[in-house]
Amino acid sequence: MWEQADKKMMSISNRTLFLNHLAQTSPSPLALEIESAEGICLFDIHGKKYIDLISGISVSNVGHRHPTVVKAIEEQLKKYMHVMVYGEYVLSPQVKLAEALSKLLPPTLNSTYIVNSGAEAIEGSMKLAKRYTGRTEIISFKNAYHGSTQGALSIMGDEFFKNSFRPLLPDVKILEFNSSEALKNISNRTACIIMEPIQGEAGIVPGKQDFLNALRKRCDETGALLVFDEIQTGCGRTGTMFAFEKYNVVPDVLVLAKGLGGGMPIGTFTSSKEIMSCLTNNPVLGHITTFGGHPVSCVAALATLNVLQSENLTASVPENEKLFHSLLQHSAIKQIRSAGLLFAVEFESEEMNKKVIEACISNGIITDWFLFNSTSMRIAPPLTINTEEIKLACELILKSIQQVVS
Ligand code: PMP
Repeated sequence: MWEQADKKMMSISNRTLFLNHLAQTSPSPLALEIESAEGICLFDIHGKKYIDLISGISVSNVGHRHPTVVKAIEEQLKKYMHVMVYGEYVLSPQVKLAEALSKLLPPTLNSTYIVNSGAEAIEGSMKLAKRYTGRTEIISFKNAYHGSTQGALSIMGDEFFKNSFRPLLPDVKILEFNSSEALKNISNRTACIIMEPIQGEAGIVPGKQDFLNALRKRCDETGALLVFDEIQTGCGRTGTMFAFEKYNVVPDVLVLAKGLGGGMPIGTFTSSKEIMSCLTNNPVLGHITTFGGHPVSCVAALATLNVLQSENLTASVPENEKLFHSLLQHSAIKQIRSAGLLFAVEFESEEMNKKVIEACISNGIITDWFLFNSTSMRIAPPLTINTEEIKLACELILKSIQQVVS
């Protein structure tokens, strides 16, 4: 009987199977059927080519299927995949990745816990801060996005997306972003402040230098841990390996994911050996994960860090950022905010934004919107994009805008 059902299913299109059997998260999914991906391009089952200007939401910073990343994965597959839960065995892929991160980071960020995703890394950071400080209050900011699990959702700075899931974590405060006045709310009851140095889903809103300075100072005064969520801004996206380098403000905990895996799932939270060691006692196993630090994801991440450095991918970011600004000129564009190769192109209305995004897709350009900024279009191409590709992409975006306005 099962076999018959199976055979019947084989004749049904993948699109129908997608709609019937894959849990849906929106009433109108894009439903592109991707056949392959290479460099900055995606190809669908009809042979149509798309320039991926969002990198799977800031993931493919080194491009799709970078040969160095693919080779590292293939080599690891010949040795072993999963062998034991996180933290029990000495696994070369994990320790080499942790070492590489330590080398890239200030000396106080020298101990890394590797998990499966951005949200899990945020969860781990919140638990770490509670356990280290013995406090319960967690502070985040308006329009912040830190993930979709219940802890991460609790600190999301938006009511629309979280209200239906209450009760969430108690003792959470959401402050005004970039308001030094609001920092008075941080006290010796606060376990940690979690922030994106440059807010992504808000539509690319950079933290102000004074604000970050004041935040660091307030954390030092109160003993609250400062956690930077660089899940979207890390791994070269803004023109330095990590966005916090530009501010010269060092967090107590750094959270990474997305671009780190070069296309494989991974998340990390990194702190000092002293802070991190509290996960070993009271209780033992302060955070547990079966697949966290998966050897295949770890070799992919290590290869990704190597590619970012050896190909000096951050070097071209400022120049390419300027090029996008100079080419994307149209009376329908109200403003372009950017942080490296992370852009928010603002239109006058949500309707117009949606139409432009749709027109872009039919013209072979993949862009996207932002969770908390419905009038802006997201652009976050692979950092490997070159001048000619940027020119072509901008030409197609302008063509799409023109189609919508006329
Ligand atoms: N923090 C930020 C800043 C993010 O952009 C995201 C993903 N959009 C997350 C956390 C959550 O990461 P994940 O989807 O891997 O759980």
